[in-house]
Amino acid sequence: NLSKFRQRGPFEWELPASGRMRVPGVIFASQALVEAMDDKVGEQIANVASLPGIVEAAYAMPDAHWGYGFPIGGVAAFDAGEGGVVSAGGVGFDISCGVRSLHTGLKLADVEALKPRLADVLYRRIPAGLGSTGALRLSAREMDAMLLGGARWAVEAGFGDEADLARIEESGRMAGADPAAVSEQAKKRQRDEMGTLGSGNHYLEVQVVDELFDIRAARAYGLSEGDVLATIHCGSRGMGHQIGTDYLRAMVIAAARAGIALPDRELACAPLDSELGRRYLGAMRAAINCALANRQILTRLTRQAFAELFPGIRLPLLYDVSHNTCKEEWHVLGGQRRRLFVHRKGATRAFAAGHAELPAEYRQVGQPVLIGGSMGTASWVLAGAAGTGEHAFASACHGAGRAMSRHEALRRWQGRSVVDELAARGILIRSPSLRGVAEEAPLAYKDVGAVVEAAERAGLAVRVARLRPLVCIKG
Ligand code: 5GP
Ligand code: MN
Ligand code: MN
Repeated sequence: NLSKFRQRGPFEWELPASGRMRVPGVIFASQALVEAMDDKVGEQIANVASLPGIVEAAYAMPDAHWGYGFPIGGVAAFDAGEGGVVSAGGVGFDISCGVRSLHTGLKLADVEALKPRLADVLYRRIPAGLGSTGALRLSAREMDAMLLGGARWAVEAGFGDEADLARIEESGRMAGADPAAVSEQAKKRQRDEMGTLGSGNHYLEVQVVDELFDIRAARAYGLSEGDVLATIHCGSRGMGHQIGTDYLRAMVIAAARAGIALPDRELACAPLDSELGRRYLGAMRAAINCALANRQILTRLTRQAFAELFPGIRLPLLYDVSHNTCKEEWHVLGGQRRRLFVHRKGATRAFAAGHAELPAEYRQVGQPVLIGGSMGTASWVLAGAAGTGEHAFASACHGAGRAMSRHEALRRWQGRSVVDELAARGILIRSPSLRGVAEEAPLAYKDVGAVVEAAERAGLAVRVARLRPLVCIKG
């Protein structure tokens, strides 16, 4: 696996450009993580590196693993002025899947005895699982307003406070969304899925801050040891998936018509400067708003659940990050400021300290980067790399990353015993799908501690706090 790579630094591995590659591929990881990474990651970054208009390098984060076309944990940026492209597979099917953490203001001792009741109340209130539906039905007009307004729409509809918006990327509303570029089928699929968690690795977790690693950033984020957080991981549900499917198909057909030979059909893409490229961007941004609105509605349900047991409680946002997006951003490249379209697929934006888009209270320490681990290990809060500057267009990992396929996990574990073993360790799982729990068994994921250490040592982000799970509502 390593033989084709040239080591650039202790946590940086370069696949030099060869053949059709226009730029090198770069993996940020420890040697052990690169060695354990499936070979597909190298092949996939080489393919991505051959796409038109790509700049600097095709990157993979330390949690990277095989994905559809682009690896999960992949970052690639394109310049519209140099024939750059946008790729539906480079964003992923769960558009704007992301993580949102809420402060509960509670300490471990406040929830320890109430854990079973808290698990039950959350499970009753949070629609989870395949095909689950929410209490909301959107009319065609409301659907378009939601797709344009994102979390801002949800707050105006009564699902949160104005103060929430400042703690969400893009202030809760992605500009440039085009509801008209979203198919009727995508809208139909989403009509009754607002405020639902979905299935698979989506979760609502109650976590305790176990250990602090950067006291100054922890203070800025309002985190102390023993604090209890509620964290939501989910995305744009049927809407994002349908948009991904619709546009992938359109991009394959358009590429064939234009005579563009793709290194992999899954890399189907459209020039940024084309009707199809613009329509995809408009639809993808609408799906970002859908995900932001969805997490906002789930926030309301979470607040209601906590208030059942802790009357009068408030759950202010720590932050909300998306990890499947393509965003138009300015970055300095070879001393020049350039407008780029940055694809992050299973990768988190990680603005360094000082970035103007950060809320004032976080600006000194960098952007909160919220990382899932697994339901049985740790999750992490990182901060965008301070001082060291930004790498990979200000990106970091998004999770531990899978160490094996769902299929392999199913072969190894049984859902019931995973739930029982975790309960014996004080971690309460509630899920409609035991099969899903087996697929998501903690050991099906890489060692999240090793991943975030690599992220820090590669200069992508700084470790702030390690979280331990108490209750996990699993989709
Ligand atoms: P993805 O966005 O790629 O679907 O998943 C992001 C990350 O979430 C995974 O790489 C994994 O490390 C983490 N994850 C998956 N299931 C759970 C869970 O139940 N709890 C926590 N805390 N993290 C999880
Ligand atoms: Mn995700
Ligand atoms: Mn997702």
